[in-house]
Amino acid sequence: MCPAEPPVVAHQARSGVPRLPGRPVLVDQHCHSVVGAELGAGAFASLLSESDRPPAVGATPWDSAVGLAVRRWCAPELGLEPFASVEAYLERRRELGVAEATRRLLRAAGLGVCLVDTGLTEAAGVPLLSPEELGGLAHADVREIVRIERVAEQAAPPGTGAHAWAATVGAALRRAAGRAVGLKSVVAYRCGLDFEPRRPAPAEVANAAALHLASGGGRLTHPVLLRHLLWEALELGLPLQLHTGFGDPDLVLHRSDPSLLTGFIRAAEPFGTPLVLLHGWPYHRQAAWLAQAFPHVYCDLGLTLTYVGTAARRVLAETLELAPFHKLLFSTDAYGLPELYLVGVAAFADALDAWLAEAVPVPAEAARIAALVGGGNARRLYGLS
Ligand SMILES: [Zn+2]
Repeated sequence: MCPAEPPVVAHQARSGVPRLPGRPVLVDQHCHSVVGAELGAGAFASLLSESDRPPAVGATPWDSAVGLAVRRWCAPELGLEPFASVEAYLERRRELGVAEATRRLLRAAGLGVCLVDTGLTEAAGVPLLSPEELGGLAHADVREIVRIERVAEQAAPPGTGAHAWAATVGAALRRAAGRAVGLKSVVAYRCGLDFEPRRPAPAEVANAAALHLASGGGRLTHPVLLRHLLWEALELGLPLQLHTGFGDPDLVLHRSDPSLLTGFIRAAEPFGTPLVLLHGWPYHRQAAWLAQAFPHVYCDLGLTLTYVGTAARRVLAETLELAPFHKLLFSTDAYGLPELYLVGVAAFADALDAWLAEAVPVPAEAARIAALVGGGNARRLYGLS
C-alpha cells in the first residue's frame, strides 16, 4: 500500500470518459467476454499485457500505457480518484465484488452492441462469462462471431477419416455460421499471412488432413487446411475478420502484416465477401491502404488504441490518412477484464474526437462521420438492425 491513498469519492464523480460528437450508439465489432470470478493480483495484471509470459523480475504490466489508462479511466467508475494506486484500485474492486465492478465498468463503456468472438473461453485460467451474461451486465445486445479454426478443430477429432475431413468441417462451419453475424480467422497466428492465396485442390486437402489427423488432430496449423477454411468461409458470405498486426508471442510479427494478404484479397474479390482486417499495429497504414484500394476490405484498430496510450490520436490519424470513413470500424478487442472495454471506448472516442475537431469544423458533419465509424459501418456490414 502507498502511505497516502487517494480518498474514495462518491460514485457520481465519474471519470468523464470522452464521448463522440452526436453520441452515436457504439457497436463494438470485435471483442471477447470477461471473467466472472475474482482474480488474484498477478492474474489480473497478466491481462494487462499481450504477453503470456510472467513479467520480468521486479516489473509489473501495470507499469505500461494500458496500466496507466486503466487507473485513469476506470478508477473513477469504482469511486476512486483518477490514477489511484494499483493497490487501492484492486482493494476497491474486491470491496465492490466482481459482479458490481464489472457492471459499473461495462455500463460506463456505454456500448450498444457487442460482436463477441467466442473462440476464447477463458482468461488467466478463469472461465469467461457467456455472451448473454456479458450483454446483461453491459446492457448491450450481443451477437456472435465464430472463429473458423476452432470450429474445424472441434468438428473433426482424430478419429475422423482424412477424406471425410473437408465435408465434416464444411458442415460444421455452415451450422456455426447460421447462428453468427460474422466469422473470424487467426491464420496469422497459425501459419502467417504470407500463405499461397489460391484455393487448395480436394486431393491436397485430403493429404493435409491425413497428416493433421495422424499427428493427433488438435490445434490446426497445416497451411493447406487453414487456406481451405478461408475459402470455405468466403463462400458463406458473412464478413470474415482476420487477425493482423500485433498479438501474443505465438505470433511472428512481420508475418502478420496485412499487405501480405494482397494476393488472397485479390483472389477473394469476386466473392464480394467483406474482409475485416483487425488491429493492424504497427501495420495499420497498410490496412488503411487495403481498405481504400479494395471495395470488400474494411479495417479496425481494436486493442491498438487501448495499448498505445497517448499515441492513440496519432495512430488513428495515421489510419484515417487513407481509410475511407465508411471502411473504418470501431472495436475494443477487450478480453478478460471489463476495464479493457472502458479503456477501449475512452481511447477511441478521445482519438476520433481530436481528429474530428481538427479535420471537420462543422458539427453536423463531425457527428455524421462519428456515427459511421462508431457504429453505422458495423450495422451496415453485419446486417444489424
Ligand atoms: Zn482480437
